[in-house]
Amino acid sequence: MKIFSIFGSPVSHSRSPLMHNSVFKALDIKACYSRTHLDDGERLRDVFIAKKLHGANVTVPHKEAAFRACDEIRGVAQNIGAVNTIVLEDKKLIGYNTDGDGFLRAISRWSDIKSVLILGAGGTAKALATILSSAGYGITILNRSSGNLEHFTSRGFSTFTHSDFAPAKYDLLINTTSAGLADDNLPMPIRLLEKQLELCSYGVDVIYGKETPFLKLLKERNIPHLDGSDMLLEQGVLASYLFLEQKYPLQDIDRTMRESFKL
Ligand code: NDP
Repeated sequence: MKIFSIFGSPVSHSRSPLMHNSVFKALDIKACYSRTHLDDGERLRDVFIAKKLHGANVTVPHKEAAFRACDEIRGVAQNIGAVNTIVLEDKKLIGYNTDGDGFLRAISRWSDIKSVLILGAGGTAKALATILSSAGYGITILNRSSGNLEHFTSRGFSTFTHSDFAPAKYDLLINTTSAGLADDNLPMPIRLLEKQLELCSYGVDVIYGKETPFLKLLKERNIPHLDGSDMLLEQGVLASYLFLEQKYPLQDIDRTMRESFKL
């Protein structure tokens, strides 16, 4: 029996056990997936080994600690500096980041996007800016404060704070801030946001499981939109593919995991 888990704090709300266990069941794989509440990210490696895990996902706030915990980092996780998927391979912890590629799969239904405005400058914004720019999209970052913008300006991205930003044409507007997650805040001042929405063709809020005020505005204005559940599903499909040593077709994993979302 192979054992997998998700590390986070909080972690009790996570849908990952349901998603991954549904794949194991549908594909008749002897494995189970649980939750592990972890407050100190620096203990992640020891707990992974003590629990004899074959793989894990990592959520807020431990993705950067997971990056440090791994023996080897593969793919875009190297540029992002954060890991959301760990696979045990020859007794080594191999780190990946499937958040960015999961997001790309989620927005692949919209083929005419060239420019993207990302709201927020945290871990998710870093992952999305890295993957979207390497896929050829033009990226601009807007954050409420300047502290976290250095990471982006030093990599050549255009960056703004609310005080020096003027709305302009961007095909896709993405909220990666936690505004609206546990409150009713919008990710930017309402007057700026209303003008910006008139200049956008598509919108995504990476928060899932609730209708945020940002998502509500997208709906009211009939702007084609997604919430974070599509990204959650797609990052999970890619993580499962890695857990299962890339032996099962992505389409099969996608189909069964998608069904678990309807339960
Ligand atoms: P971080 O803590 O790394 O970054 C949070 C960002 O939000 C910062 O830029 C911060 O600005 C900004 N922010 C927080 N509150 C407000 C506010 N009231 N108004 C404007 N900006 C605000 O978080 P993460 O990037 O790790 O996660 C962000 C969100 O993405 C979370 O809600 C998380 O649940 C979601 N998420 C969803 C995933 C999915 O699969 N759907 C995957 C990963 C994350 P400042 O720099 O000024 O503090």
